[in-house]
Amino acid sequence: MSELAVLQAEAAGCTRCRLSEGRTQVVFGSGEPNADLMFVGEAPGFHEDQQGVPFVGQAGKLLERLLGGIGLTRGDVWICNVLKCRPPGNRDPQPDEIDACEGYLFRQIESIKPVIVATLGNFATKLLSGKPHGITRVHGHEQEAVLGNRNVLLYPLYHPAAALYTPAMLTVLESDFARIPELIARAGDAPNLPEPPALVLPSLENAEPGAVQLGLF
Ligand code: URA
Repeated sequence: MSELAVLQAEAAGCTRCRLSEGRTQVVFGSGEPNADLMFVGEAPGFHEDQQGVPFVGQAGKLLERLLGGIGLTRGDVWICNVLKCRPPGNRDPQPDEIDACEGYLFRQIESIKPVIVATLGNFATKLLSGKPHGITRVHGHEQEAVLGNRNVLLYPLYHPAAALYTPAMLTVLESDFARIPELIARAGDAPNLPEPPALVLPSLENAEPGAVQLGLF
């Protein structure tokens, strides 16, 4: 069994928070287990809870259309949410639910090893960037981040559900999406995506003179 399949089996029986009581099923995530590009939304809604697949409602249809615009399908990327279970009535996730669930997301990132993590909307963006800046300010601005044990490029985007009803936001989302191929290519050109710096200091004996740690880009 792959690392991701083991994690999925573990998540399927999760009772770490109260959301397990009201869910129909855990919405683990779907797509390509080795994707370069991962999308992270907030939490499953009604349809996702019923079907066990993220982004299957109207927002998901828009996400698929946006992916099509850059030559991708949902089978080429990994799509998931911060929370794997639906909050009742689609209320906001609560801090203890995030604490209980975020390990699954970080372990997904460690297993899938994406180079770009595109956060959809305010909630996922603030949580994964660790900064309070809202999506209106940071959308379309990539930033380096360490998620789980991986260096990734965090790429905040408007949430497709918000863009569904606001044409101006949709235009911005489309143009932010259009930059994704360039970001993936840039990340692919990096010699390798280094692991975050080890806590152990390298021995001076083995250090090459003048060696420097390569940055991401
Ligand atoms: N909104 C989200 O954030 N995630 C989903 O899976 C569906 C809608």
